Amino acid sequence: MTSNQDSSAIRLRHLVGGRWIDGSGTPARSTDPASPEEAVATYRTAGAEQLDSAVRAAVTAQRAWRDLGLIERGRILRRAAEVLAGRAEDIAVLMTREHGKTLPESRAEVAGSVETLHYHASRARAADGATYPSGHPDEVIRTLRRPLGVVAVITPWNFPLQIPVWKLAPALLWGNAVVWKPASDTPAVAVTLAEVLCEAGVPEGVVNLVLGPGSLGAGLVARPEIAGVTFTGSDAVGRLIRDAVVPRGAKLQMELGGHNAAIVLPDVDPAAAADVLVGAVVGSTGQKCTATRRIIAVGDAYDDLLPELAKRFEALRVGAGRDADTQVGPVINERARAEIADAVQQAVAEGAEVVARSSGPLPDAGHFVHPTLLAGTPELTICREEVFGPVVTALRAADLDEAISIANDTRYGLTAALFTTDERAVRRGLADLDAGLIKVNSPNTGSELHAPFGGLKDSTFPAPREQNGDSSAEFFTWTKTAYLRTTAPREARS
Ligand code: NAP
Repeated sequence: MTSNQDSSAIRLRHLVGGRWIDGSGTPARSTDPASPEEAVATYRTAGAEQLDSAVRAAVTAQRAWRDLGLIERGRILRRAAEVLAGRAEDIAVLMTREHGKTLPESRAEVAGSVETLHYHASRARAADGATYPSGHPDEVIRTLRRPLGVVAVITPWNFPLQIPVWKLAPALLWGNAVVWKPASDTPAVAVTLAEVLCEAGVPEGVVNLVLGPGSLGAGLVARPEIAGVTFTGSDAVGRLIRDAVVPRGAKLQMELGGHNAAIVLPDVDPAAAADVLVGAVVGSTGQKCTATRRIIAVGDAYDDLLPELAKRFEALRVGAGRDADTQVGPVINERARAEIADAVQQAVAEGAEVVARSSGPLPDAGHFVHPTLLAGTPELTICREEVFGPVVTALRAADLDEAISIANDTRYGLTAALFTTDERAVRRGLADLDAGLIKVNSPNTGSELHAPFGGLKDSTFPAPREQNGDSSAEFFTWTKTAYLRTTAPREARS
C-alpha cells in the first residue's frame, strides 16, 4: 500500500550478505502511530529469494566469524556501542516516530542498548570455559564453547532496539551468524541497528536482516540451516515456532507474554505505592511484557490505594510521543487500539467498574487510548488474557494467602511485585509467587541487563534466559569437553 504521504518516507532495504538489496515481495510501510496517515518507511517485503540468500550468506560467513576469536568479536561489539551512542538522538527520534513511545522512553531505550553492547563486549575477556581435574596425572579436562552456527532472531515491536540488541549482541559475541526478522511495525529502527553493526565492522554475511510479515519468520525458522531460534513475542506465535523448531533438535529461546500482578499490603504508604504502580501500568503505554496488569490490595490497603491510583490516572496526559508534556503515547496500531477498547468494554459487561481514566481529551488522529483503572474480580476475562495496553484491574484480597493465590491464578509467570516491609511476607512472596522475576517495593517493570531475565509457566520455554552473560553463553553455544594429555601415548611393549 502506498499513498501521497509516502514520498517523504525512508526507503528501506534488506541486508543480505553485506549488501543492501530490494525485496521481491509486496509493498509495505510503517506509519507514525500518532499520525497514522504519515508513512515513516516504505519497502518491498523480502521474498523467498532474499530469505534463501540471507540464510546462505550466514552459513558462508559463520566459520570465519567464529575463527576471528572472542576478543576481536568483543572489540567489534564495543565499536557498535560507540557508533550507536554517536547516533543516539537520531535513533531515539526515529523510534518515537515509528513506535510512538515518548522521546524520554526512546532515549532510555537507546541508552540501554548501548549499555548492553558494552556489557557483552566486556564478556569477551571473561573466562570462556571451566577446567576439571583428571584421574590421569598428565591430563587436564576443560570445556570449550562452540557457536551454534546460524541463529534466527525474531523480535517484537515493543522494544524495537533493546530486545534485538539483547539477542544479537550475545549471538554475535559467541561466534554465530544471524538472520534477523524484526516486527513489521518497526522496520526502520531495525535497519538503523543493522547499519550500526555494519559500520562497527561486523563482516559481510554475519548479520542479515530480512523485512516482512510473520510468514517470512515462519519460513526462516523452518530452514534446516537454522541451528537456534531466539524469539520474543506472543505465546500464540511462540507455540507455532516451538512446533517448527523443537522436533528437528534446533535450540530455542522464547520470551512470551505475561499477566503480571502487584500485591500491596496495608503497611505500605498508599500514595507512594500508587506513584510506582501507575508508572508500571502506563510506561511505554502499557506495551511492556512486564507491565502491571493486576493490582491486588490486601485488606484496608484496597480502600486507601484506590483513590490514590484514581487521582493519578485522571491526571495522565496522553499525546504524541514527540510532545514534551506527553506522559503516555499512542499504542502501536489501530488493531491494538481496538483490542484494548474491546477488552475494557467486555470487562464492564462482565461486571467490572471503571474507577478512573485519563480525563483530558484524546488527540483526534492517532491510535490513542485512555489509560484506565478498573476494579473487579479475578474471574474477569481481562484478568486472564493479556491486554497489551495501559489498563489495569484492581482486586481485593482478604489476606496475603489469598493475594498470592490470585496472583498465581494465570497461565503466565513473568513478573510479580510485592509492596511491604514485612520480612515474613517478603519471604513468603519469594517462595510462593509463580514468576520468573519478583520485585519487592519496586515496579514489575524494569530489569538489570546482567541479571537473568525470563518467566515461568506459559511466559517462556525451558531454556537459558536472556541478557545475563552466563545464560546467554549457555544458549548461544554448545559445550564440548576436551581431555588434554600432555604426554604422547607410549607404544605398546612386546
Ligand atoms: P507477535 O505477534 O508474536 O510477533 C513477534 C514477532 O514474530 C514479529 O516479528 C512477528 O512478525 C513475528 N511472527 C509473527 N508470526 C510468526 C510466525 N508464524 N512465525 C515466525 N514469526 C512470526 O508479538 P508482538 O505483538 O510483536 O509483541 C507483543 C507480545 O510480545 C506480547 O505478548 C508481549 O507480552 C510479548 N513480549 C514478551 C517479552 C518478554 O520478554 N517476555 C518482551 C516483549 C514482548 P510481524 O510483526 O510481521 O507479525
